[in-house]
Amino acid sequence: MTVRKIERVIPALTVSEGAGVTVHRTLGTPALHYLDPFLMLDHFGSKNPNDYIAGFPDHPHRGFITLTYMLDGHMLHQDSMGNRGDLRAGGIQWMKAASGVIHSEMPQQTNGLMRGFQLWINLPAAEKMSQPAYQEFPAARIPTVNTDGVHVKIISGEYASQRGPVDDPHTQVTYLDVAFAPNTEFRHTLPAVLSAFLYVFEGSIAIGDRKVAAHNLVVLGLGDSITLTSAGQSARLILVAGRALNEPIVQHGPFVMNTEQEIRQAFDDYRNDRLVRTEARLGSA
Ligand code: MN
Repeated sequence: MTVRKIERVIPALTVSEGAGVTVHRTLGTPALHYLDPFLMLDHFGSKNPNDYIAGFPDHPHRGFITLTYMLDGHMLHQDSMGNRGDLRAGGIQWMKAASGVIHSEMPQQTNGLMRGFQLWINLPAAEKMSQPAYQEFPAARIPTVNTDGVHVKIISGEYASQRGPVDDPHTQVTYLDVAFAPNTEFRHTLPAVLSAFLYVFEGSIAIGDRKVAAHNLVVLGLGDSITLTSAGQSARLILVAGRALNEPIVQHGPFVMNTEQEIRQAFDDYRNDRLVRTEARLGSA
């Protein structure tokens, strides 16, 4: 066993996205452009509705997966595959944009709260122009494990012999939500080949003798075992890992491909209404 140590700590940048939504971004910033296969991590959430109520009206994606996890509040959404609905607190939306999807994402408050995460997961070259796909799971479908003051929700991958509902065949993503009572310890083992990071969003945790506060992402170094501890207060983080693709990427906004030519093609397809291979079925059952 080799313990994974802190490789880098990336403080969140506050950026404005969509039609004027304030998000805390760590992955996908100049400090951490790409952590193969992860392209972006946005932590959204504010008690001020003006920070997000304009939402993300219709916009395209091509070449990767968006994984959205709502903590509080909910999100109205619809897409050109014909999916539409309301992602509730604790729910997960996995959208494989692949060859192209146009969708809208409109966050809403519940009891004055709206919080969540969106993670962009890159697709291998062989999958970038494949058929889009969609998975959605309500909170009740997410397994939880409570052990000695640590409460783990398993969104994807495995923990304590339980498996999360999101099936990610391309990069074997593990995605855990870990909540700590004060002075507790969490241990986990992840295959050494996987890229791994964590993002603290409540309280602070310690890795070895180093403390990490909320709104910081930690890139974990090589190894397989992870040990995290909380201090005198409760803490909460997400722990994410996945298999690196080791392919060149060219990214332009919502399009992530392997070459400049493919990016030009994506813009051309979008402008000429050829982005979505699947017939748009907005509003149908
Ligand atoms: Mn989107």
